[in-house]
Amino acid sequence: MLTVKDLVPSLLSWYRAEARPLPWRSPLSPYRVWVSEIMLQQTRIEAVIPYFERFMNELPTVQALAAVSDERLMKLWEGLGYYNRARNLKKAAIQICEQHGGELPADYDALHALAGFGDYTAGAVASIAFGIPVPAVDGNVLRVVARLKADFDDVMTTATRRRHTETARAWLPPDAPGDFNAALMELGERVCLPNTMPRCEQCPFKTVCEGHKQQVAVLLPVRRAKTKRRVEYRTIFVITTDEDVPRVLLRKRPAKGLLAGLWELPQAETDDASAAVSEIRSAYSADVRETRTIGDGVHMFSHVEWRMQGILLRTTYFPAPSDHVWATLQDVHARYALPTAFRPFSRLLPILLEKEEIP
Ligand code: SF4
Repeated sequence: MLTVKDLVPSLLSWYRAEARPLPWRSPLSPYRVWVSEIMLQQTRIEAVIPYFERFMNELPTVQALAAVSDERLMKLWEGLGYYNRARNLKKAAIQICEQHGGELPADYDALHALAGFGDYTAGAVASIAFGIPVPAVDGNVLRVVARLKADFDDVMTTATRRRHTETARAWLPPDAPGDFNAALMELGERVCLPNTMPRCEQCPFKTVCEGHKQQVAVLLPVRRAKTKRRVEYRTIFVITTDEDVPRVLLRKRPAKGLLAGLWELPQAETDDASAAVSEIRSAYSADVRETRTIGDGVHMFSHVEWRMQGILLRTTYFPAPSDHVWATLQDVHARYALPTAFRPFSRLLPILLEKEEIP
C-alpha cells in the first residue's frame, strides 16, 4: 500500500511545475530567503512582494541591513506590522557581520542562535538556501500534516507541533529538502486550503490522505479556542497647524511595549471625547482653532483590540515637545513610519492637510 513518503516525488513534480515565480526565488540567496521568510510570517504573499522588492533595492546585502538607521528600517517596514520582526532582522544582520564574516551561516544551530530565528525560520533558511535536510513547519505545513494523518490533536500545543515536525522530518527527501519544505507550504496555500474545502482533486497526496479518505479534512487542524482580546478605547488626535504648509504632530511611542519606538498620532486612553480633548489641550498648551470628529476605527493586535475615535484639532503653531515632531505630508510619506493601527486616520491626512500632493 502506498504511503505519503512514496508520493513525495509526485509532490516535488507538482511543485516544480506549479511553483510561482516569486521574487525571492530568483535569484536565490540565503539573504533573500531569510528576509522573505520573515516578511511572509503573518502576511500574505501578494502583500509581501512590493515590500520585498523595495527592501532589496535599498538594502541588498546583510551589511546594508546591519547599517540602516532604525527610522529608515521602520519606514521600509511600514504597513507590514509586527515591527519586532524588522528589529530582529537588523539585530541578526549585525550578529552575522560580527560573528560570521557577513555571510549567513550554513548551519541550522548557528542560524537558530540568531535574533528572530525560531525553529521555522532556521529550518526554512537552512533547507531552502543551503540544502540542509531539516523540516520547516509553519501553519500551512501543520494543516497539511494534520489532514494527511487525520490527526485531531490540538495543533496549538507544543507536543502536537513537535509530533507533526517529526512526521515532516520522516518524509523529507535528503536530496531536495528545500523544495520539499517549500512544496508542502505551497500545497497548503494553494490546494489544502484553510477554513474551507481543500482542493483534494488537485492534490498529489489524495490517494494516501486519511483526512480526504475519511472526509474529515475540512475539520482539521483542530485549534483550541483563542484567548479573547482585551478591548481598549482610544481617542486618536490629528493635530494640525494653520501654517502655509500645514503640519501634523507626531509622537514617538515609548521604547518598550506595544508598537515600541514607532511614531504615532497622539492619543488619549479614553473614549470620552471631551475629557480626551481637555487632556490633550492641557498637555500641549495648544491654542485650538477647530475641533472636529473624523470617524472611528478598530485595530486588532494579537492580544489587544483598539476601538478608536478620531478627532481633528486645528491649532496655531506651538513648539513640538520632546519625542514629538511636526511633520508635513511629505515627511509622513517619506520619513516617518505610522503603524497600520492608525490607518483609519492617517489615510485622511492628504485631505486634512489641505490636499497637499503626495509625491
Ligand atoms: Fe489536503 Fe486534500 Fe491533499 Fe489531503 S488530499 S493533503 S486534505 S488537499
